[in-house]
Amino acid sequence: VTTGTKPSLTIRLCQPRGFCAGVDRAIQIVVLAIKKYGTPVYVRHEIVHNRYVVEGLQKLGAVFIEELNEIPDENQHCPVVFSAHGVPKSVPADAKARNLFYLDATCPLVSKVHKQAIRHHRHGRHVLLIGHAGHPEVIGTMGQLPDGAVTLIETEDDVRSFQPQDGLELGFVTQTTLSVEDTAHILEALQERFPAMQAPAAESICYATTNRQEAVKETAPGADLYLVVGAPNSSNSRRLVEVAERAGARMSLLVQRASEIPWDDIGDISILGLSAGASAPEIIVDEIIEAFKQRFEVTVDLAITATETEDFPVMRALRDVELTKA
Ligand code: SF4
Repeated sequence: VTTGTKPSLTIRLCQPRGFCAGVDRAIQIVVLAIKKYGTPVYVRHEIVHNRYVVEGLQKLGAVFIEELNEIPDENQHCPVVFSAHGVPKSVPADAKARNLFYLDATCPLVSKVHKQAIRHHRHGRHVLLIGHAGHPEVIGTMGQLPDGAVTLIETEDDVRSFQPQDGLELGFVTQTTLSVEDTAHILEALQERFPAMQAPAAESICYATTNRQEAVKETAPGADLYLVVGAPNSSNSRRLVEVAERAGARMSLLVQRASEIPWDDIGDISILGLSAGASAPEIIVDEIIEAFKQRFEVTVDLAITATETEDFPVMRALRDVELTKA
């Protein structure tokens, strides 16, 4: 191919993008568990919301299940890993009752939100959880407290329709992967209605979510197309697509692999924004850049908006295993 014939394209590549410290730790836990204990290692729910990662771990001997009762009795001695999104308290309780050996890969920043919710509850407050219904992190956070102790708030409409019990104090926490902007609006509405509502001691939206959204916001204005590498069930990735659109990208899409790029719909583009959700591996970002290089004369413009140094160590039981990444 003669490069001279290709149209030019500038790729604004976000940094930070892709794997966060919580996802990295969760994947390491599965890899190290397989190394230390052999196969199978069960993993409850997708360890992180990414098919490529899940398939890679399956090849190493991980078996993905949705519920603990899928572990056959004869394999009760095999470890089961809980995903980075966190689990309701009933899950480790069930595991203990069945005498299962579990490794909890819940991100420490999700555990922090759990602790904040528990703290509100101990102070006699009803907990408002801002988040998306059905997301495993929301199920996990709600499941830290007894039924009825937490109300899920998804929208500003939910703020208007929420009827607190008379005299009950309120406290809030949020899912870690929400839109910073939407959450600020929901919080404003809540604070206006319930000025005495207590905040958690620390911000619930995590550093990785905030940094990835900020990077997209800065690189989206003027982009003809914005691609976010991520899975449809990845909350933080979907929020990045919304941020790109709101910040001025002409078109913004979520893609899991280069094969999903809708070349026929893209039309003439000269600026592409590119980021990846916290559960998307860098190898797919490379694959996408390569796919554009086949069709365009590409210049990659690295947009560095933050430096991340977070690194979450795995649990002690696995620290003696030599690390080889998946
Ligand atoms: Fe942890 Fe944030 Fe990554 Fe979720 S997105 S695993 S909360 S660092």
